Amino acid sequence: MKVLVAIKRVVDFNVKIRVRSDGSGVDTAGVKMSMNPFDEIAVEEAVRLKEAGTVSEIIAVSIGPAQCKDTLRTALAMGADQGIHIETEADLEPLAIAKILQDTAHKEDPDMIFLGKQAIDDDANQTAQMLAALLNWGQGTFASHIDFTEGAAQVVREIDGGLETIKLNLPCVISTDLRLNEPRYASLPNIMKAKKKPIQTVALEDLGLDTTPHLNVLAVEEPAQRKAGQILSSVQDLADKIKEAV
Ligand code: AMP
Repeated sequence: MKVLVAIKRVVDFNVKIRVRSDGSGVDTAGVKMSMNPFDEIAVEEAVRLKEAGTVSEIIAVSIGPAQCKDTLRTALAMGADQGIHIETEADLEPLAIAKILQDTAHKEDPDMIFLGKQAIDDDANQTAQMLAALLNWGQGTFASHIDFTEGAAQVVREIDGGLETIKLNLPCVISTDLRLNEPRYASLPNIMKAKKKPIQTVALEDLGLDTTPHLNVLAVEEPAQRKAGQILSSVQDLADKIKEAV
């Protein structure tokens, strides 16, 4: 089986986000960027399936500026076989990303596409769902466990208040949740080996897709500053404070 894994380059989850002074967006100048954490989980799951003999080929796909190649190298060092970089400086919406992945799926003909459940920068949680709809494939979103039996994927999904198990015919789209696995760190020998793995670069314009944005971001603001807390010495003090406040 062939798996396509979509990986996004985002501001590292440890970095404190700064908003640009003109409120036009998040400041990414000089900021550490990494693979979206849910996408690391997606790569890890694909690699585990390859190690188990269920999957034979893993292709990582990243859409964005030239530096996405570094993110692809990380996926290759984790165990992906090859990378596809769709190069663009444009800030694309989930529908545009889904259209590009649909186009890649038509060309690569995978049995499954793995995505993160959401990108931690836009928090959209839309791309996997839109991609499945465009391809007319089944979708298993928020996967916390995946099994393969008789040419079908059985996906345990994290839903409000519990778990749901669904069976999907292949090809299908699966989005990964936090508890699916714990991604590995790439070892030094694998980082070295990854340098020799192929990455194909395609300019977005050459795909001839309509990726026109449908939304216009009007303003991005920092959350309101929280007031400092106070540590009280007794329950009585707490009761007095509450009385004062009422
Ligand atoms: P979102 O719908 O924006 O929250 O993103 C969900 C998932 O779509 C991410 O976890 C990635 O797997 C995939 N994705 C979104 N944007 C990109 C991108 N620029 N390149 C590759 N994959 C992406």
